Amino acid sequence: MSDEKFQVIVIGAGVAGCAAAYRLAKAGREVLLVERAKTAGAKNVTGGRLYTYALEELMPGEWADAPLEREITREIVMMMANGNGIALDSRLSSMDKLSYSVLRAKLDAWLAAKAEDAGAMVVTGSTVDELMVRDGKVCGVKLGDEELEADLVISAEGVNALTAERSGLITPVKLDNVAVGVKQVFKLPEAVINERFNTVSGKGAAMMCVGECTKGVSGGAFLYTNKDSISLGIVVDSQSWKKAKLPLADMTEELNQHPALACYLEGAELVEYSAHLIPEGGIHAVPRFCADGFMIAGDAAGLVVNNGFTVRGMDYAILSGIAAADTANEAIEANAYAAAALKGYETRLRQRVLKDMETYKNSHSFMVEATNIFTAYPGMAADMMRNIYAVDGSPAKRLTGIAKQTLAGKLSLFDMAKDAFKAVKSL
Ligand SMILES: Cc1cc2nc3c(=O)[nH]c(=O)nc-3n(C[C@H](O)[C@H](O)[C@H](O)COP(=O)(O)OP(=O)(O)OC[C@H]3O[C@@H](n4cnc5c(N)ncnc54)[C@H](O)[C@@H]3O)c2cc1C
Repeated sequence: MSDEKFQVIVIGAGVAGCAAAYRLAKAGREVLLVERAKTAGAKNVTGGRLYTYALEELMPGEWADAPLEREITREIVMMMANGNGIALDSRLSSMDKLSYSVLRAKLDAWLAAKAEDAGAMVVTGSTVDELMVRDGKVCGVKLGDEELEADLVISAEGVNALTAERSGLITPVKLDNVAVGVKQVFKLPEAVINERFNTVSGKGAAMMCVGECTKGVSGGAFLYTNKDSISLGIVVDSQSWKKAKLPLADMTEELNQHPALACYLEGAELVEYSAHLIPEGGIHAVPRFCADGFMIAGDAAGLVVNNGFTVRGMDYAILSGIAAADTANEAIEANAYAAAALKGYETRLRQRVLKDMETYKNSHSFMVEATNIFTAYPGMAADMMRNIYAVDGSPAKRLTGIAKQTLAGKLSLFDMAKDAFKAVKSL
């Protein structure tokens, strides 16, 4: 039994936990950040795009040395069908450092070091086994035989928040509310990436793909260029994937060999392969955000929006870490740690993160139900392009004739109008 007592203990040195610990340490609090991996970020998975406004909010003007890979200046949205890729490829000059590709092993380690420099105690290679609860209030954590006391505990332990679950503070995450992601990192020389993506060092591309890349299962593929590697993977809705009964490893292998992507990977070496859940249930699936002596942040609180064209979890994790830390500061000032005293946390979340989640409250169900997006439309787009550009000497057709030929026997205009209506309502 340890007699050490902290003002706040943060579980998990992902982006949410590091943000909370950094903010608290900056405010001069005695904060302990506990991470089960040997180094922060070693076990963490993301597709790879961080929106930097969140870093600016966490440490205004102090993230110039953050290990960001490439500024995203090229956005590609690709529909895939029958071995074809039909892309909308945009180069946006006005993105002005809004987002960067990142690798978590570097980013989280840097964030944890920032928290440590600010005065937090960071312990890695230690797993919190359970929360300590006394008279209904969370009052610390257990690490093996060791008991560590705290006025407040912040769970930032990710989507499988086992310690919070074991204490009955949240219910286990449901299959309906998670997506499954697989991510690979392929090593390629920086100059080769520049050449293949027609870019320069420091600038890069983000690609979102839909259709054949997930074999028609609700979800999509992503590709991000890093300095000298490429992050490539898929994210699929777990229910749709379960129904399809397709092994993820096979889906990933086929993704790598798809002609629209294989050209980017030629000669690349696979150096990392990981899989992870993503809480995508949206605002309908978030837990209670606080209990006596306790707050929950980031993926552990289900704070993710995937609307098909952007996946946002890391920026919300940082914002929730900030919100939890600011609420903890108020509670410490008032020496009041009951759930009622921590209500400011939810208020802060409502102003930003939950507001966005409310905006996209129907996007998850839309994605699961609008199966044509993942099957029929990519096929139709591929056929349309082929019918327009495959000039073989047969009599020329007007565009309307080509469109009719492409649609024949596929979706009716009524079906398409229904999908468009649902999309407008949900996205
Ligand atoms: C394939 C994929 C693609 C994605 N793409 C994007 C993207 O492009 N952009 C974006 O913004 N978001 C993306 N996301 C979502 C984003 O990665 C998450 O929302 C974000 O990582 C959440 O951060 P977090 O700190 O809450 O949780 P995590 O990153 O999961 O961190 C939790 C930490 O807690 C530690 N931990 C857990 N239990 C314990 C314990 N008992 N004791 C001690 N430590 C513990 C873990 O080891 C880990 O370090 C993606 C996710 C996936 C899986």
